[in-house]
Amino acid sequence: MSKNKDLLASVSDVSTESEFFSPMPDGYKKGKTRYCFVMGTVMSGLGKGIFSSCLASLMQDKGLKVAPIKLEGYLNIDSGTLNPFRHGEVFVLDDGMECDMDLGTYERMLNQDLSRANFVTSGQIFNSILQKERHGDYLGRDVQMIPHVTGEVKLRLRRLAAETNADIVFVEIGGTVGDLENAYFIEAMRELAYEEGPNSCCFVALTYILEPKTLGEQKSKAAQLGIRQLMQCGIQPDIITCRATNPVSEKARQKISIYSNVPLERVISLPDSASIYMIPAILRDKGLDFAVLKLLKIEDRINLRHERRAWAQWCDFTDKIGTANRRITIGITGKYTTVRDSYASIINAIEHAGVALASDVKIKWIETTVINDENAAENLKDVDGIIVPGGFGTRGAEGKIACIKYARENNLPYLGLCFGFQMAVIEFARNVCDLPKANSTEIEPDCPEPVIDILPEQKKIEGLGGNMRLGGKDIELKPQTLAWKLFGKTDSVRMRFRHRYEVDPRYIEVLEKAGLIFSGKAPNQPIMQILEFPSHPFFMGTQAHPCLTSRPLKPQPMFVGLIAAATQKHYPQEKLPDCIRAARKVCNRTD
Ligand code: GLN
Repeated sequence: MSKNKDLLASVSDVSTESEFFSPMPDGYKKGKTRYCFVMGTVMSGLGKGIFSSCLASLMQDKGLKVAPIKLEGYLNIDSGTLNPFRHGEVFVLDDGMECDMDLGTYERMLNQDLSRANFVTSGQIFNSILQKERHGDYLGRDVQMIPHVTGEVKLRLRRLAAETNADIVFVEIGGTVGDLENAYFIEAMRELAYEEGPNSCCFVALTYILEPKTLGEQKSKAAQLGIRQLMQCGIQPDIITCRATNPVSEKARQKISIYSNVPLERVISLPDSASIYMIPAILRDKGLDFAVLKLLKIEDRINLRHERRAWAQWCDFTDKIGTANRRITIGITGKYTTVRDSYASIINAIEHAGVALASDVKIKWIETTVINDENAAENLKDVDGIIVPGGFGTRGAEGKIACIKYARENNLPYLGLCFGFQMAVIEFARNVCDLPKANSTEIEPDCPEPVIDILPEQKKIEGLGGNMRLGGKDIELKPQTLAWKLFGKTDSVRMRFRHRYEVDPRYIEVLEKAGLIFSGKAPNQPIMQILEFPSHPFFMGTQAHPCLTSRPLKPQPMFVGLIAAATQKHYPQEKLPDCIRAARKVCNRTD
């Protein structure tokens, strides 16, 4: 939709005569799309995104079209400048949107590529309101939180509905009910439900049941108060999901039921689960899928044959979780080692590959600030492979280079992701090409051998927000290379990027002459995107972030290659397939 049309769409139902302000996007068919709202009470971090994506996947299995959307309360326009240490990883969509890690959960659970239409922040909402105000779109009215700001929120939801033609839009509201910054989202949900009419919307509240050690019993009061807060906003929940460490007792569920007018069968216990991939089955066993269909009155839209097939495929995957008979260890270097959320996609990609190959992968976090050439062997003695993930800045960079040197010289399987690709180039330049002063200008701005330098196109863009090479890009693969074979002998693959620096093209020749192979590059541009080292069992780096596109039923070939090579290394006596054959066996799905 063009920008102008967009602005017009937002004002078509507006007049100075009416207090109603409900802009409708072009093509919106009232009644076609239903809405399921998921919000949290008591505290954040309950796994609203996980819950919502699992429920959405059950609906998708039934042949329904689902579209998730996350509403974030913060004022940033996107997640690009957020510190992963505080907020979890920055997830990048194919269209270049930098967003919350929950969008990654939706993409994985739904096996669906999302776009910027699926991610809304308060910053975007207010930005658009102020633009419209300057454009004169409010026809002389004072612009108010209600109805204009809430109207903008409803517009985003309806626009997603119209663009995707979804049966159900799943709306996840970030933060907790009672936060000042998401209160207007909740008000917008209430208004939307009122406007769309009965059975158009279903409200799910996630809450938490405390179990203080000193008492040894579950206490539901905090949960009750949280739900009361939601009801004070004019919202009657339809389903309450009780998160807890242990299964929630009947007594606690009864208390919540009576307190909130929600029938007991719709007050669900959802204790911690060993794997998020088990949650769809738990929700299904509790009949939550049919409860939602009934509340939204769309039982007649489902396709049970589709569901049988989809569920069988899903169970093929989940049945294998935890049954592996081989156990390996992958070391991951990185500075955000205390917050696992900063590496959520990598952890998931490892799990997908591990399950597919029947290898149980333990992760060892390696703090690289203490590693050097002398102690690398000692620090890496118990790992079967290493990943150097994405990163920014100088901290721990020399330690990462020491790990890579050790991996390259000792046939230890290696996968470098973005920063890890750049560090592998520096290591190779220093130790094989005899360029001891090689470095990245990110680490050493005036370095004499800048093998990694800022992208010419990024040099022109100033400021911190929005100056990276972002999103899905095609990669041209060099025939006969390991990458080409891993990806099924195809000429081109698509991966997602988020970087400012790249290999300086002036060094490509010297690196390749010394034995490094750039097996993937940008079409028509000298941007190197995949490297490998042929005389090594598995040494690969990529400027991209392949973890972002790994899916449970479709593991990513580079991760499969790494895990296969690491498993082979750990179990040399077993005749295991090499990484290429392993990748072909588990990555050949086309859906
Ligand atoms: N800091 C590096 C760059 O900007 C790598 C980025 C990353 O790992 N995502 O190019």
